[in-house]
Amino acid sequence: MSPDTFSNAVKDFQSFAGLNVTGELDNETLTTMTLPRCGVKDKVGFGSDSRAKRYALQGSRWRVKDLSYRIAKYPRNLNKKEVDEEIHKAFVVWSGVTPLTFTKKTSGPVHIEVRFERGEHGDGDPFDGPGGTLAHAFFPVYGGDAHFDDSEKWTINSYRGTNLFQVAAHEFGHSLGLSHSDVREALMAPFYRGYVSSFELDEDDVSAIQALYGKKSGQGPNPTSGKKPTEPPPSDGEENELCNDATIDTIFNSAEGITYAFKGNHYWKLTDESIAPGYPRLISKSWPGLPGNIDAAFSYKNGKTYFFKGSQYWRYAGRQMDGKYPKRISDGFQGIPDDIDAAMVWGGNGKLYFFKGSKFWRFDPTHKPPVKSTYPKPISNWEGLPDHLDAALQYTNGYTYFFKKGVYYRFNDRSFSVDPADPPFPRPAGYWWFGCRAQSKGGITGETNQDGVDDDNGVRLWNSERRQGISRNDDNDITDIILDGGESIEQDTRI
Ligand SMILES: [Zn+2]
Ligand SMILES: [Zn+2]
Repeated sequence: MSPDTFSNAVKDFQSFAGLNVTGELDNETLTTMTLPRCGVKDKVGFGSDSRAKRYALQGSRWRVKDLSYRIAKYPRNLNKKEVDEEIHKAFVVWSGVTPLTFTKKTSGPVHIEVRFERGEHGDGDPFDGPGGTLAHAFFPVYGGDAHFDDSEKWTINSYRGTNLFQVAAHEFGHSLGLSHSDVREALMAPFYRGYVSSFELDEDDVSAIQALYGKKSGQGPNPTSGKKPTEPPPSDGEENELCNDATIDTIFNSAEGITYAFKGNHYWKLTDESIAPGYPRLISKSWPGLPGNIDAAFSYKNGKTYFFKGSQYWRYAGRQMDGKYPKRISDGFQGIPDDIDAAMVWGGNGKLYFFKGSKFWRFDPTHKPPVKSTYPKPISNWEGLPDHLDAALQYTNGYTYFFKKGVYYRFNDRSFSVDPADPPFPRPAGYWWFGCRAQSKGGITGETNQDGVDDDNGVRLWNSERRQGISRNDDNDITDIILDGGESIEQDTRI
């Protein structure tokens, strides 16, 4: 490393940490570098140097206001009740200034899972023992979970140890979509600065979270609130091509957390309610260089989106092709066959899964070879799923969805089976995903008044509730069921 490079790196750090920008490793810089901190990466050096110091948004957010959480694994040195209270207080920090609500659940799927873990704990980002990294959390697009290093001495209302409430409030900021702020006093600054007896959010934190979710009602207009759930979705069902035949080629989330459905040469942007006005649009216009009739797509943790067709694949950074593509699947995804049906990053373990015919392959980029010799395996291992899938998606509510010939299945990553529900899966994708009328051709018409559907009055369920459906109501506390093994995974799983 040249002296210039070194000095610039020090300057970046100083600027980000809110220190005097000298480029020299002075005492204050060294001290700051050794402060315990959050393990989520800083967005250093983004924007211009003259940028006013302020918060940073990661780019994704939850599309529902009522979020749930579970403490799936408690710390060793505190009692459960105290932990429950501190975690609750940490969520209240954010629900106090936004319309968000947080409900603690003890079973079933939740939006945000909280775990206290030591060392390697299954997401490729091991904790480092006392001090250093205290915790990390995943942004909404990556699931929202928050992990705390159980090697720390977590404390409550004390100057000793590490204050659980403050660190939890910080991590939940990430779970909600905030990156680190370069405002030193902000809760979202990356360093832990010790216990504060009368905690208050910085103005910077409040502006950040309200930029994503708006203000709490009663605090003035809400700039980001969407349609109210009671408003019917656009009644353009009849014009919508997806309502005639809801079969799709692929469905995926962009790195920004927007869901797109592809079919032939067209694509649709999905909203919470149905599909956005002004769609379909041409794939070739929005993703220059990408052909139609795509087989499969997903966005990976590196923020890139991958598209597969025939024997080739394309990588995009947003709407820009990310280098020279197409490339051969056999080169970039060694061990994965051509002509795949569906692909996804599975929320259960963050690994890549490819589906074709009656088989599936697991792909782990850090393994050599990336596909183990035990693959392919039968799709019937995924209890309740059919062969010959069209598409697979992990949606922003945390569930995994599989699509086939106009219907879809909701898969529960924890019970590891298609969810039992009423009406049962598979359900018609047109009605539940694309804003089509309930009685449309080929649709199952079981969704009658009991589900709040009243076609005569045009009153419909909000689609995000439709998609979530009725969750399974049992008391099994099922944790961490994964397809096989729990070997460590790629280094870059943090965000
Ligand atoms: Zn952080
Ligand atoms: Zn973790």
